[in-house]
Amino acid sequence: MAHCIVPAAEEILDKEFQVLDKGFVRLVDYYGSDSRIVQSARVSYGEGTKTISQDGALIDYLLRHQHTSPFEQVVFTFHLKMPIFVARQWVRHRMARMNEVSGRYSIMKDEFYVPENSCISKQSTNNKQGRGEVFEEKQAKEFQAEFIEGQQKAYEVYKDMVEKGIAREIARINLPLALYTEFYWQMDLHNLFHFLKLRLDSHAQYEIRLYAEEILEIIKTVCPMAVNSFENTMEKAVSFNGEEMEALRKILSGEENPIQDEKKLKRFNEKIKTGIQL
Ligand SMILES: Cc1cc2nc3c(=O)[nH]c(=O)nc-3n(C[C@H](O)[C@H](O)[C@H](O)COP(=O)(O)OP(=O)(O)OC[C@H]3O[C@@H](n4cnc5c(N)ncnc54)[C@H](O)[C@@H]3O)c2cc1C
Repeated sequence: MAHCIVPAAEEILDKEFQVLDKGFVRLVDYYGSDSRIVQSARVSYGEGTKTISQDGALIDYLLRHQHTSPFEQVVFTFHLKMPIFVARQWVRHRMARMNEVSGRYSIMKDEFYVPENSCISKQSTNNKQGRGEVFEEKQAKEFQAEFIEGQQKAYEVYKDMVEKGIAREIARINLPLALYTEFYWQMDLHNLFHFLKLRLDSHAQYEIRLYAEEILEIIKTVCPMAVNSFENTMEKAVSFNGEEMEALRKILSGEENPIQDEKKLKRFNEKIKTGIQL
């Protein structure tokens, strides 16, 4: 089979799916589909499964056994617009190719992320990297106004410096992390699943999670079987270490949980809870 064309994906090509207040995800192009995964796996396994249900089972088998290279045969190019603080997290995923708008070349747009009141929360008390309780609406609105005021002030100074002839590359340095940036980003499905596993997780920051959720929806149109296997095998799976497996064995055979250490017990219980909630 030559070039893969998936009608459902063709329909959403180039459409902007809004994320946050001013951001978006747009699928620019895709290469391959579920059939390309199956095809490339058959090269290593020889002629085999043929029907749709057999194709689904093969994809599932590949992912369950971490035979991941056939998933590298499917590639996506996205156009993304997101605040710089989200992009900072995004670029940690190195197995990608990207091109970002240049603040040295272009004048940055007056576009900043303003969190909704419901996102303006207190520092979490049990997770140093997370947020906890939401502030009361009145207080949240005051913080929101402060965000906006700071952003406007920073942009006015930037604009003024550019107008006075300061090089754009230096005029920009006081612009905040809330400023929106844009880039083209290309990644294969194997690495994208790894990205999604990490960034759909409840430990990932809320804002990047929203982008990951949108990407998951988009790639479902290109390779629904593979995404279905991902959700089952990777996203909704919880892994237990050796000590925890031993504890599970004991609990299932009616014995007491041998894990006594408070921190370990908390981690173990959290995993069970997450497993039940998924
Ligand atoms: C919830 C959360 C919190 C985080 N907090 C922080 C933080 O506080 N500070 C911080 O700096 N980062 C943080 N990170 C980023 C994290 O450490 C990883 O850099 C990021 O998740 C990308 O993962 P990766 O390296 O597996 O992905 P990729 O860079 O896409 O790489 C994919 C895979 O390729 C292989 N690979 C890539 N590059 C190399 C290499 N140079 N050598 C060997 N193998 C390689 C690895 O197998 C890797 O898993 C956080 C990530 C998450 C999800």
